[in-house]
Amino acid sequence: MQLSSYEDLRSRLFSHEITCEEVVRFYLERIENHRNDNIYITVFSESAIERARELDRKLREGESVGKLFGMPMAIKDNIAIKGGRLTCASKILENYESVYDATAVLRLAEEDAIFLGKTNMDEFAMGSSNENSAFGNVPNPFDKKRVPGGSSGGSAAAVASGLAMVALGSDTGGSVRQPAGFCDIVGMKPTYGRISRYGLVAFASSFDQIGVLARNCDDVALVLGVMAGKDKHDATSSLHEVPDYSSEMATVSVEGLRIGIPKEYFPETLNPDVSRIVKGKLAELQDQGAELVAITLPDSEYAIAAYYILVTAEASSNLARFDGARYGYRSENSEDLAAMYVNSRTEGFGREVKRRIMLGTYVLSAGYYDTYYKKAQQVRRVFQDRYREALEKVDVIAGPTSPFPPFGIGDKTENPLDMYLADVFTVPASIVGMPAVSVPLGFDSQNLPVGMHLICNFFEEAKLLGIARHMQRSL
Ligand code: GLN
Repeated sequence: MQLSSYEDLRSRLFSHEITCEEVVRFYLERIENHRNDNIYITVFSESAIERARELDRKLREGESVGKLFGMPMAIKDNIAIKGGRLTCASKILENYESVYDATAVLRLAEEDAIFLGKTNMDEFAMGSSNENSAFGNVPNPFDKKRVPGGSSGGSAAAVASGLAMVALGSDTGGSVRQPAGFCDIVGMKPTYGRISRYGLVAFASSFDQIGVLARNCDDVALVLGVMAGKDKHDATSSLHEVPDYSSEMATVSVEGLRIGIPKEYFPETLNPDVSRIVKGKLAELQDQGAELVAITLPDSEYAIAAYYILVTAEASSNLARFDGARYGYRSENSEDLAAMYVNSRTEGFGREVKRRIMLGTYVLSAGYYDTYYKKAQQVRRVFQDRYREALEKVDVIAGPTSPFPPFGIGDKTENPLDMYLADVFTVPASIVGMPAVSVPLGFDSQNLPVGMHLICNFFEEAKLLGIARHMQRSL
């Protein structure tokens, strides 16, 4: 079954050429055949088929159907689906079942999407390679010895391997965009507050956003439009009106488009292949009428430091709730309550999560708060001003998604700072809260995927996806 886009699938379902049940069985069989790739943590074999049958009945009996009718989707395992396992790829939540639906999930379900299962990820979305999962790593679909990126590595690999049509991920500093870049697909993080975070397990609440991974920008736009909008369960969800992304993005043209190219996004250390491919694409756009504008974003070198101070501070507070008493794993042999907390957390959390809890507790502690946390907050503000100013002069800021192509499994696990640098280009949009996307550009000399990263101003998702679509189309 070759399905080029959701539109293609939808028209075949409507013409009764295929049924939802056939589609789901097709995907479930592929998932089964790829079991060794460890892409899914949980597969909803039975409920997905049941749901497909119910949808087939609706169509047969002429009931009205939703915008995502029959869309086979994968959901990152830090997003809640009622009654389904919600592990965050952590031992501490290994057997935890969600008691409610995330708002995003609920809205997808209301439009008749089908959930195939929950995807592998870095534990609590902390990582850039999917290697921090308590359920083991996921190989890159294009080279099994390499990582698929992270933390939404399972979601990216699922879409790239044809084990789901569209997947949800979460993006705190690049976790949707970076794996999309590593897996040759589109990955978009909307403006902070665009999609409700209710039911997304919190990592760093002032950064976290649900994002979409798909093969093309049209599918991203469709799914985004369904999930976006105010939610009474999330006070940070925005009241900003939700446009019709699909029709609005079609009005974006390359002619006259001002593309800002920050020199900080093309450092000398940039992988030469990545640099060549990204610059080649930009030159192509120039030929099509876009204007390339050299810009500068001073102090970009502080992004990673500020990010890791702020997110670890927030994480240390957010993860305090996992204490063995309320959720998931509890250590068996503890003499008293305090020991039960300590042992449950010691045994339940993985190495990277513990590192971040310690780092976050440290930067928030009396005596260090001003030096680290407050300073990082000030840096965040400076970044917001700089990006706002830059986007007064240009329509979009462009650069590579990652400074290097997918790296080898194990290559960066012993050096956390090295791993953190994988996000240098994706972290700034998260610091400022602007929407950003990774667009697949093709393959480097070793046949590894390379992605272009684009940032637009707050709530300009339609423009962002419109620009991204031009890049993808003319491949
Ligand atoms: N790799 C980054 C980190 O480890 C980003 C993670 C994310 O976006 N969830 O924090």
